[in-house]
Amino acid sequence: MENGSYNPFLVAQSQFDKVADKLNLDDSLRQILREPMREYHFTIPVKMDDGTTRVFKGYRVQHNDARGPAKGGIRFHPQETVDTVRALAMWMTWKCAVVDIPLGGGKGGVICDPPNLSEREQEQICRGWVRQIARNIGPVNDVPAPDIMTNGQHMVWMLDEFETMHGGHYPGFITGKPVGMGGSRGRTEATGFGISYVLREALRELGIDIAKTSASVQGFGNVARYVVQSYIELGGRITAISCWDREDKTAYTFRKMSGISLNELQGITDKFGTIDKVRADELGYERLPGSAWLEQEVDIIIPAALENQINGETVHKINKSVKVIAEGANGPTTPEADEVIKQRGIFLLPDFLTNAAGVTCSYFEQVQCNTNYFWDREEVLQKLNAKMTEAFNAVSTLARTENVYMRDAAYMIAVKRVAEAVRQRGWA
Ligand code: GLU
Repeated sequence: MENGSYNPFLVAQSQFDKVADKLNLDDSLRQILREPMREYHFTIPVKMDDGTTRVFKGYRVQHNDARGPAKGGIRFHPQETVDTVRALAMWMTWKCAVVDIPLGGGKGGVICDPPNLSEREQEQICRGWVRQIARNIGPVNDVPAPDIMTNGQHMVWMLDEFETMHGGHYPGFITGKPVGMGGSRGRTEATGFGISYVLREALRELGIDIAKTSASVQGFGNVARYVVQSYIELGGRITAISCWDREDKTAYTFRKMSGISLNELQGITDKFGTIDKVRADELGYERLPGSAWLEQEVDIIIPAALENQINGETVHKINKSVKVIAEGANGPTTPEADEVIKQRGIFLLPDFLTNAAGVTCSYFEQVQCNTNYFWDREEVLQKLNAKMTEAFNAVSTLARTENVYMRDAAYMIAVKRVAEAVRQRGWA
C-alpha cells in the first residue's frame, strides 16, 4: 500500500539496486531486472446485488519469468495500487529463486473491499478478473494463488472460469485450491509453518532455546495464525497479537503475558480476522493500541500483516529485548529501518526467504496436479521443512562468510540465480 512518501515499488527497486552494486551486475541485467517484464491493467464490471453496475480495477504484473512461469498471489484490498502489485511481483521473483523452485515472479490485485461485498459479488469479481486476463496467464506462463483477502473459494471460482473458457481441466492454472479440488494438503498452513521452520533454524544458530522465548505478532490472518500455532507447538510463548478492527477502523494489540491461547482467540474472531474486543476483554486480554505489538518486551517480533510497518518512524519503538525479527508479511520493513536494525545487531529473517513456504507449497501443488497424484500431509510438510531449512542455511552461511546483512545475503543468492537464467536465455 502506498502511504505518504512510502512507495513499495521504489523500495523494491532500491533494495535491488544495492544488491546489483554488490554483485557488480552489468547494466543490461539491471535494466531487465529492475522493471516488470509485462503488466496488465483492466476493468471488471460487476452487476451488484442491488442491480447497479460497479467497475473494479484489476491488475496482473509479471516481473520476470526467466526461471519458469510467473507465480504469485492475487490481493483484494481497497488500498491496492499498481506500484504495490509491481513491488510484490518483483519480490515473488526473488522468493521463488531463493528457495530454488522453477518459477518466476508475478502478482495480481483488485481494488475492492471483500468484507463489504456479498459472496456473489466476490465470485463475479473473480470470474471477471479471469475473463480479462485469461489469454495472458495459464499453467505454462503465469500461475496465480491466494494472497491478502483471497482464499481457496476465490481460487475455485477462478479455476472454473478459466476451465470453462478453455474447455478442459487445467488444475495447474492456479494454486491454493481446496483439498479435493486439486489443492495440496498443507497449503493453507504452509506459509505460517514455514516461518516457524526458518525461525527454529535461526534460533538454533544463535544458540537460543526456542522454549525459553516469547514473541509478539502483528496480524491475525492466515499467515499469522499458523505461525502462532507452530511457534507455540515448538515451545514458544506469544504474549501479544495486533489485529485490525473493522468496526472501529483501527488496530488493537491484545496482550496476555502468560501466553495467548490460539483456540481461545480464534473462537472470537470473524472470518476477516477481526477479534471481538468485548469478548477478549472478558477473557482477560489487555487491550493496547495497535502499534504496541512492536514495543513488547519479547525475544522475537513477527510482522505478519502488511508492508511498511517497521519504518523510520516506528523502528525506534522496538524493545531492547528483541533479538530476532521474522518477517511474515511481504515488505514490512523499509530500507531506512533496515539500517537501524543492522546497527542494533538484531537478527533479521527477510520476508522473501521467511515466508517462501507458501509459494513452495504452491509449487508442490502444481507438481501434484501435473502428475494427478496427491501426497499425504506428512510428506508435504516434510518436503517443505527440508526446502526451507536448506534455503535458510544457504542464506545464513553466505551472510556469515561475506559478513553481510541477512536481507542482502538472500538478495545476493536470488538475484544471482535469476541473472544467470536471463543470461543463459540470451536476454542480456
Ligand atoms: N501470496 C503468497 C506469497 O506472497 C503465495 C504465492 C503463491 O503461492 O504463488 O508468497
